[in-house]
Amino acid sequence: MRACTQCGKCCEIYGAGLTATADEIAWWETFRPGIARYVSNGVLWVDPVSQQRLASCPWLTDNKSEGTFGCSIYPDRPEDCRHYPVTLSEMARDGCEMLESSDLKHPQKSQQALDVLMIDSRPPLA
Ligand code: SF4
Ligand code: SF4
Repeated sequence: MRACTQCGKCCEIYGAGLTATADEIAWWETFRPGIARYVSNGVLWVDPVSQQRLASCPWLTDNKSEGTFGCSIYPDRPEDCRHYPVTLSEMARDGCEMLESSDLKHPQKSQQALDVLMIDSRPPLA
């Protein structure tokens, strides 16, 4: 299990279909109105001018010189984003670059390694 390479695949796959709780949205409305502008009737992410749902996450940045992607609201990103990746199977399905081929030979150990890597972002998989 390697650290996140910032390949951006997870944001590209899931960024347009994220959800957020009412508490998250209320927090953005109070403390991060710039983010809340892209939420409409509980739906993420919506163009604040056209009110059309966006086809991709508006906060994904392309660090072309480094060949990586970033998140311009990283400290305030949705819980959905904080929790990814959760399981080895979703990583394999999504092509997540944290997953190494050897991880699939020892799935239990690899899941524990993933849970340690993610300890600051989400609770461990039960
Ligand atoms: S909010 Fe940030 S972490 Fe979440 S999908 Fe968008 S760019 Fe990725
Ligand atoms: S798909 Fe995996 S390696 Fe790529 S940015 Fe997401 S968590 Fe990081």
